[in-house]
Amino acid sequence: MSKHSVGESWCQNHLADQQVYQLLEKVDADLTEEARSKGCLFCGGKLHRSDYDRKPRGGPQWAERFSLCCAQEGCRRRHTPPSVRFLGRRVYAGLVVVMVSAMIHGLKPERVQRLREALGIDRRTLERWRQWWLITFVESSFWREARGRFLPPLCLQTMPWSLCVSFAVERRDRLLELLKFLAPITTSTIRKACVM
Ligand SMILES: [Zn+2]
Repeated sequence: MSKHSVGESWCQNHLADQQVYQLLEKVDADLTEEARSKGCLFCGGKLHRSDYDRKPRGGPQWAERFSLCCAQEGCRRRHTPPSVRFLGRRVYAGLVVVMVSAMIHGLKPERVQRLREALGIDRRTLERWRQWWLITFVESSFWREARGRFLPPLCLQTMPWSLCVSFAVERRDRLLELLKFLAPITTSTIRKACVM
């Protein structure tokens, strides 16, 4: 099999796999529980579940981003735990953002276009993702700290394809490892109190 057909089948198999979606939801629940058990980072208060609506496009039927809120009067700060399902504020599931962005470097342009259209992703959105991986991601402090564990060093011009290849994401458990690896970048710093 060529590199192209391999890449296309990863991407399509994972995106069609309900078990992948269920597994990711379970991992997010675990990450949330772990954060909850630590309590409020500001005042040490108890954290309560305070999920918010997030319906990602292009695949899984998730409805909520798991989140937590401090119960202490006068603090009430939101703590959004890392996620293997949502990549920052993007409207598409993290899995879709990673896989389709990887395919830019792994498939012929007409195949990427077909995939993009099938998932309802417009050209500009995909271009923004590409720029994000090639510029923002590779220059992030997260990547600067993490890159040392990849030997030989990953090709930065083909991110996140090179990352997917390195993790061997054609296997479901390896895909999960990649999404866990990326989870720290999925939450922004805590800025605001919860609206109660
Ligand atoms: Zn607090």
